[in-house]
Amino acid sequence: MTDTYVEIDLKIMEQNAKNIVAKYPEYDTFIGIVKGDAYGHGYGIVNALYKGGIRYFAVSSMEEAAAFRKENTEASLLCLEPVAIDRIDEAAELDLTLAIPDTAYLNALLDSGCDHPFKLHIQIDSGFNRLGFKDKQEIKNAADLIEQSPYTLEGVYQHYATAGIFDPYYDAQQAKFRELTSLLDLSKIPLVHLGSGIALMAHHKPDIATATRMGLMMYGYNISPDSYGSGLKDRLRAARDSYYQKKYHISKVIRDVELELKPAMTLKCRILQLKDVKKGEHIGYGASYTAEEDIRIAVLPVGYNNGIGHHDHGRVVEINGRLCPVVGEIGMNMLCVKVDRDTTLDDTVTLLGGKITLGMFSRFSGMGLAEIMLGVGKNNPRYYYE
Ligand SMILES: *Cc1c(COP(=O)(O)O)cnc(C)c1O
Repeated sequence: MTDTYVEIDLKIMEQNAKNIVAKYPEYDTFIGIVKGDAYGHGYGIVNALYKGGIRYFAVSSMEEAAAFRKENTEASLLCLEPVAIDRIDEAAELDLTLAIPDTAYLNALLDSGCDHPFKLHIQIDSGFNRLGFKDKQEIKNAADLIEQSPYTLEGVYQHYATAGIFDPYYDAQQAKFRELTSLLDLSKIPLVHLGSGIALMAHHKPDIATATRMGLMMYGYNISPDSYGSGLKDRLRAARDSYYQKKYHISKVIRDVELELKPAMTLKCRILQLKDVKKGEHIGYGASYTAEEDIRIAVLPVGYNNGIGHHDHGRVVEINGRLCPVVGEIGMNMLCVKVDRDTTLDDTVTLLGGKITLGMFSRFSGMGLAEIMLGVGKNNPRYYYE
């Protein structure tokens, strides 16, 4: 085993997929988002998700698609970002579904003369102002062009710019999607998919949707918004929200969804050295930490080179079920934590997982949830187990 490593539990991944699929029978198709090296988990997880019932996946690039296809050739695979036309034959070989962001791209694809029977998904820009069509006549024309081409229009989709929690912009984006697709016969397009995991959990299925996409959830995070607390402030907030909800016809938010999802990724390391530090001595770069009493510390083989970030807002690690605070600066490859007298060199240290939740890690580091999984997963050796 390497000094620092990531463990990924494939049984958990499979069970997460099963639980999601079982929870939302109103959707025909689940598109598992595995961009960013499967949120840092690596494509070694793909078949666990496939076994769990997810049959459609989406990546961001041809490189990711190639890594995915090394693991699985049966699943459908959408590339969310437009594939460069000069690599279209590669995309055909990988049997990718292509996203079509605008008319210029569609024309270039048609001009390529590639006769692989690609499945295409039209991307709609419903208010993000990133990829996607913004004009309903252009969307209709694109659908008509595809109709006469060797390709099939399999899907149409958008992506929400906001989380949709008590959020008039959520409703505006959905209305925009309906408007932009109003010249299409959506009932003839097999996959109509809106939004991401948070939209799936916090809202009822829009009547037009047949498929859904989710990322974070599959990796073990129940991102359902919490209900209001019972304190006076919370009750006032609930009453105010409810008033505005009615007044401005804002979609109601589903809260506290019961869905069992478990994180599959843990970050662990061994201890390099145990050391006694006397009261008044300094630890680490800048001598920024001063021991207020005699303490024992453990030197750990992990730093910002391992993707944990360099900020330390009260970070702790877990050793033998106890939480041990970081002392001194986090270095590139090492950091120190304060430990109990009975800690030994044989003890394993957990930096993510166990008692250290992703939410805690996010507060320690100032990093976002997906950003942490990417950093940790991509920068350490990964071991899969069942
Ligand atoms: C990343 C991404 C998702 C998944 O979002 P989560 O919040 O992780 O569920 C869905 N759709 C698109 C287009 C994305 O880029």
